Amino acid sequence: MRILIVEDEAAIATAVKRALAADGHAVDVVSDGRQALEWADTYRFDLVLLDVVLPGMDGFAVCSALRDAGVAASIMMLTALDDVQDRIAGLDRGADDYLAKPFSMEELKARIRALSRRRLEDRKPRIRIEDLELDPATRDVWRGDRPIHLTAREFALLELMARHPDQVFTRERLIDTLWDADFAAESNVVEVYIRSIRRKVDEGRRNGLIETVRGTGYRLRTKAPR
Ligand code: CA
Repeated sequence: MRILIVEDEAAIATAVKRALAADGHAVDVVSDGRQALEWADTYRFDLVLLDVVLPGMDGFAVCSALRDAGVAASIMMLTALDDVQDRIAGLDRGADDYLAKPFSMEELKARIRALSRRRLEDRKPRIRIEDLELDPATRDVWRGDRPIHLTAREFALLELMARHPDQVFTRERLIDTLWDADFAAESNVVEVYIRSIRRKVDEGRRNGLIETVRGTGYRLRTKAPR
């Protein structure tokens, strides 16, 4: 699995990274929430090991932000020993599991195996629109045989439209669904994202799947115009 450790205590982060890497996982370490969000937007992690006590944003806020950004990784919170409130807070914010500090590496590895099995069982079916294919479980995208790399938010936007083919989405609807309430609705963020997704998905195609409906919004169409 590809794993991101979010932990500001270097000794713990290093020990966990070493143990998991020895188990064959690809492991990255960041030391605060801001970096965690950047990394999770850029790379596709299967699991985020998220410490609660972090400088700046705490682990709960990071967990909420990851889920708001559409990050599909499993999240395991590292909480204080026996703090029931911490566990509830984490689970309520979209964490899949928690582990109380200090923990044994063997228990951590066993929990990771369990989460990995659960991810496979929960695997949602792939979505297909013409020759565009999306895998919601892994966030992999293909156009024909060509793999396409999208950021977490680009994937979320494309997935939303792909689940409702031919339906027109207004800018406001897309912003409401994919961005938080503080987001400035007058910005051109939707246009920027659509342009980027279109470049990746429709590049080199005569008939694009992503259609701009003038004055209204955007849609993914199932039948390209002749
Ligand atoms: Ca910490």
